[in-house]
Amino acid sequence: MSDAPIALSPQNRTVSSFPMRQRLLVVDDEPLILEGLTRLLAARDYEVVAANGGCEALIAIGKQQFDAILLDLGMPDLDGNEVLRFVADRAVDTPVIVVSGDSTIDAAIRALRGGAADFVRKPYEPEELLRRIENTLTRRRLEKENNHILLRLQQSEKWHRFLVNSSPDFIYTLDCDGRFTFVNDRVESLLGYRNEELLGQHYSLVIHEDDIANAEHVFNERRAGDRSARNIEIRLKCNPGMRRPRLMNGRCKSVELTATGMYDEEASPFEQRFIGSYGVAKDVTERKQAEETVHYQAYHDLLTGLPNRALFRDHLGLMLAQTKRTQKPLAVLSLDLDHFKVINDSLGHTIGDEMLLAVGARLRQCLREGDTLARLGGDEFAVLLPTLVSRSDVDHICCKIIQALSKPMYVKGHEIYITVSIGACVAPEDGDMIDSLIRQAEIAMYQAKSQGRSRLQFWESGMQAPYSERMQVEADLRRALARNEFVLFYQPQVDTITGEVRGFEALLRWWHPQRGLLAPADFIPVAEESGVIVPIGDWVLRQACAQAAEWRHAGLPPVRLSVNISARQLESADFVDSVMRAVQVDSLDGNLLELEITETLLMRDFEANAIKLGRLSAAGIRLAIDDFGTGYSSFKYLSRFPIHTLKIDQSFVQELDREENMSIVNAMIAMGRGMNLNVVAEGVETESQRARLQQMQCHEVQGYYYSPPLPYQEATALLGRHTRGFNQRVAG
Ligand code: C2E
Ligand code: CA
Ligand code: CA
Repeated sequence: MSDAPIALSPQNRTVSSFPMRQRLLVVDDEPLILEGLTRLLAARDYEVVAANGGCEALIAIGKQQFDAILLDLGMPDLDGNEVLRFVADRAVDTPVIVVSGDSTIDAAIRALRGGAADFVRKPYEPEELLRRIENTLTRRRLEKENNHILLRLQQSEKWHRFLVNSSPDFIYTLDCDGRFTFVNDRVESLLGYRNEELLGQHYSLVIHEDDIANAEHVFNERRAGDRSARNIEIRLKCNPGMRRPRLMNGRCKSVELTATGMYDEEASPFEQRFIGSYGVAKDVTERKQAEETVHYQAYHDLLTGLPNRALFRDHLGLMLAQTKRTQKPLAVLSLDLDHFKVINDSLGHTIGDEMLLAVGARLRQCLREGDTLARLGGDEFAVLLPTLVSRSDVDHICCKIIQALSKPMYVKGHEIYITVSIGACVAPEDGDMIDSLIRQAEIAMYQAKSQGRSRLQFWESGMQAPYSERMQVEADLRRALARNEFVLFYQPQVDTITGEVRGFEALLRWWHPQRGLLAPADFIPVAEESGVIVPIGDWVLRQACAQAAEWRHAGLPPVRLSVNISARQLESADFVDSVMRAVQVDSLDGNLLELEITETLLMRDFEANAIKLGRLSAAGIRLAIDDFGTGYSSFKYLSRFPIHTLKIDQSFVQELDREENMSIVNAMIAMGRGMNLNVVAEGVETESQRARLQQMQCHEVQGYYYSPPLPYQEATALLGRHTRGFNQRVAG
């Protein structure tokens, strides 16, 4: 925008132009010549100093700086050649033009050898002399400029070399064949090579064997600009001949590499010529080691070095996924040492710790490579047997374990006997959820203890956790109820075509005083097992109905509220009455309440459930089949229930892009519609899932795509915008 002049740096200004008058020294013993010359030059705007003879010249040179000297040769006091020698000896940086009556070639040669910049014969043509002076001055100026630039280049190169070499990062260049053409000094402390050892070597020499494939096309990067490699993590190999690798912190280094291709800038822009790569590698070894330590500590028991509960859960999760593919069962064992507390209390913790180490080692010997042995805490271990042929494999391994432990252990001069109780369960037969499998194995282990210890017990449905533990959790949950720590969140169910909110599913959360907001997965299984789910479920029903009534009083449009019903609740004798009471307290239209029950649960006590649900249906209360598609999916049986809604399980929805799932979902929707049911798809997360479902004529969807479960204030606000609810979203 502005036309402000470009600022020149001070150096630029003095080098490229001479604003001051040029000062010349004129030396001649002939007063007439001296005067004539002085006048001629002064007329051309030179500043002139006149010296009448060689001696005066020397004095003037000693006092002042000149841009050029015009020097006579033959002078009685001091010869011009002597003056030249003086100038050369003192390295006076001023060009000397000899102006002499001596016209012999010898004289000229001598003067030029002596350092004269030019030689002009007397008598001279004034114009000729002036031209020669001007030429000399120009030449000198150019020389000076060149020198100056050269100096700055040298300085800047020195400066860059210093920066590059003292950089904490390893910096290199490669030629187009991947051979080092430059490495900075850092390579010595990083990899133990002197830099000349690497020059000319192929870069693969310094790449860790396992990272060769990763480094290819990255270390010798050809791309330039945004697409080139940035912060790529690879490992470099230290010089194998290095004497003291420990000083360098090991034999390999992790670096973060940034590299780019270099191209010949002179070549035409259309055919850029690749000339090599340039890269900077930052040493992140320490950070990686710290990360690994943290990771290790997070996943291992520090006493025994065995995997801890978190890693055990991870392995179990992976193996469960594999089991689904291979159809091979797996087993989870829970092992607990018998009477370990006695050893700890009588012999002390040090011996107790040694014992645990020894037990860990013995257990490991009974297992195969792929089995996971973990210490879950205290004297509790767990084993994952990832591939079984049958339950008798578990029997066999547990026999081995019990036998191995039955031999005495010698710890610090004590002979100690220990036994172990083992609980086991098998997936997928006993279930396929990580935490419930671990829990079931533990319950079976408690059972083994109560039956005399030092034995194996398989989990059986109906087995319950020991009384004391159940009491504790039960007490926690009851207290939570009394203290009002439970809340309901509401997730909207949205009309696929209009985007209107049709209903909300009430989802339970626990504001735990220490652990924060807990999701149902964290406490429903225990609540279910301990039976506290019945009063909790009752609370959920009453709370949901109260919320619906509140919305109605606030004049908000009526929407359906869905409530999840658990097994214990449905099975309780009081179930129908408790639902009716909840509706009646708030004199709610029964139509607005929908109970979500899974197929599996419905089928469990078919006849009784049909009667209960029939009564509720007569009062207008609606019934939804939850997680549809994961259970029996038998329409023949389902048709015996007064069902209003089918909720397609999220596992189908989330894999809608797969062809086989598409046809399954399509069939489910078609069947639901055929039976005149409302079809709701759960877990819709993307627009493409929503669009597919709309295309398949699914009526309603629920999922993060529209909204996660919301606290009641937000759900209320959403209802306020009700009819237009998600219109925008659908249109967009
Ligand atoms: P559910 O009945 O199948 O509930 C749907 C679950 O999917 C909810 O998890 C919900 O937050 C989650 N969800 C919703 N949209 C999406 C989505 O787009 N993607 C994914 N990945 N998940 C989504 P939440 O709230 O953790 O509930 C888990 C389960 O706990 C429920 O499964 C239900 O079986 C049970 N539950 C929740 N509240 C209650 C209750 O009040 N009583 C009983 N007995 N069980 C409840
Ligand atoms: Ca549900
Ligand atoms: Ca569900």
